[in-house]
Amino acid sequence: MTMLKVDNLSVHYGVIQAVKEVSFEVNEGEVVSLIGANGAGKTSILRTISGLVRPSSGTIQFLGKDIHKAPARKIVASGLSQVPEGRHVFPGLTVLENLEMGAFLRNNREENQQNLKKVFSRFPRLEERKNQDAATLSGGEQQMLAMGRALMSQPQLLLLDEPSMGLAPIFIQEIFDIIEDIKKQGTTVLLIEQNANKALSIADRGYVLETGKLVLSGTGQELLASDEVRKAYLGG
Ligand code: ATP
Repeated sequence: MTMLKVDNLSVHYGVIQAVKEVSFEVNEGEVVSLIGANGAGKTSILRTISGLVRPSSGTIQFLGKDIHKAPARKIVASGLSQVPEGRHVFPGLTVLENLEMGAFLRNNREENQQNLKKVFSRFPRLEERKNQDAATLSGGEQQMLAMGRALMSQPQLLLLDEPSMGLAPIFIQEIFDIIEDIKKQGTTVLLIEQNANKALSIADRGYVLETGKLVLSGTGQELLASDEVRKAYLGG
């Protein structure tokens, strides 16, 4: 089943066109990676899907419903959650309070407690640090917190914006292992990355974005093997 359908999407900032007639799909149960260099338009696409930026043209459907005009709050409530680039955890709030913020649209206390348990079992390090100010976590731990917070809303589709950015290699591997685990547990993932190698290794399918345009698509393995991708993104 098609979970997310982006059709002919364009995004402008004033006269600058950041996204140019982009179309792609994410099917239920997949990890789909969108890769591209700095400024290719990856974040703009993600922010448009989550309702933080409005498209200048094109449509976005989530679970069969148009969402490109819906407010961000409604989009989250419909089952889609974004982990922004740079994490953005709330400083001054504890790890636990940050996680609770992720469930603010959900009124079911019992379900929230169950989701918290699941997040802590997936990220034991967060449970150990649950009373610590989120701002004092390491970069990798903040990434885990941001992912845990997004999972607290029990999304059907998780949007991840460069989760490996700025992390040490050991954390990068851990984050990608966690993404695979999230998929196994039944959450669909749209992953935006500059780390093409890792992103395509775990992706069912991928798309390559260049200056706002989609130029290539295929399975993760096909893209990893393609000369174009190897030259441009994998250094060989
Ligand atoms: P990166 O990997 O560096 O985050 P990206 O692929 O996510 O890049 P975007 O952040 O979507 O790319 O940016 C695409 C283009 O749109 C860039 O040229 C950027 O300068 C421009 N842009 C992004 N946000 C704005 C904004 N709020 N106002 C004006 N231009 C913007």
